[in-house]
Amino acid sequence: MMEKYSITVICPHDIAEIRVIESVATCETTVLVCTECGEELEKPKTDCT
Ligand SMILES: [Zn+2]
Repeated sequence: MMEKYSITVICPHDIAEIRVIESVATCETTVLVCTECGEELEKPKTDCT
């Protein structure tokens, strides 16, 4: 699934949370999203343990 992310699109809220968007085997893809409106504030990153 391809989505566009832009760091220039920042919502006015200042509360955010890490959301897991994909989990494959030992790898988790997480993204920082605004808790208020769900806007993605950073590009997703994948962490493998
Ligand atoms: Zn927001």
